[in-house]
Amino acid sequence: MRAHPQPPWRIGLTGGIGSGKSTVAAMLQALGAPVLDADALARACTAPGGTAIEPIRAAFGPQYIGPDGALDREQMRALVFAQPAARQRLEAIVHPLVRAAIEQACAQLQGHSDCVVLDIPLLAESAHWLQQVDAVWVVDCSAQTQIERVRARNGWPRAQIQAVLDAQASRAQRLALADTVLDNDATTTLPQLQAQVAAAYARQRQLFGL
Ligand code: ADP
Repeated sequence: MRAHPQPPWRIGLTGGIGSGKSTVAAMLQALGAPVLDADALARACTAPGGTAIEPIRAAFGPQYIGPDGALDREQMRALVFAQPAARQRLEAIVHPLVRAAIEQACAQLQGHSDCVVLDIPLLAESAHWLQQVDAVWVVDCSAQTQIERVRARNGWPRAQIQAVLDAQASRAQRLALADTVLDNDATTTLPQLQAQVAAAYARQRQLFGL
């Protein structure tokens, strides 16, 4: 059943931090699927000249925009840490702009691509996006594997990684929403992951009737 009426068909790709979601997104891109990255679009909105800059300046004050014209991430991080309501105000500005950018990019793909991957880290947490995708793909691994990967990749202390995990949907919540699960636990090699991705993409295209 099609969640979104307009082509291209939409695969919603998600996974907790360190699950390997970006790795899978790159593999899908290599298979020829266009990938729209919600995080990258959110960063573009808050870069110099981005569509969120003037609304953020108006809502929070000029001290949250750096001399380069970008969102001052350090200042904003400190504010949303101290005031959870500020995070909601920020998201109320940025999320609609990211949605609009994704819709615009999907519209531009019409007639060029029959299928698109929406790489959305917080898909499981977003009623909006769950309604806008035709299939949910979850990159799955244990919390322990997430912690080890993020420690190796970012060098963060365990408590910081755990805080991110605690703020995200649980593994069980994500799996409950999945149409396709890609197993990327500690024993999964990259070639094994690649094989799963290729098989799942072929199956998904068949299910979409492509
Ligand atoms: P996410 O986007 O979910 O945060 P990444 O795709 O960036 O996760 O993966 C986290 C880290 O783990 C990266 O450094 C990546 O190269 C590594 N990684 C992910 N999956 C595997 C795997 N199956 N084998 C080896 N390294 C992996």
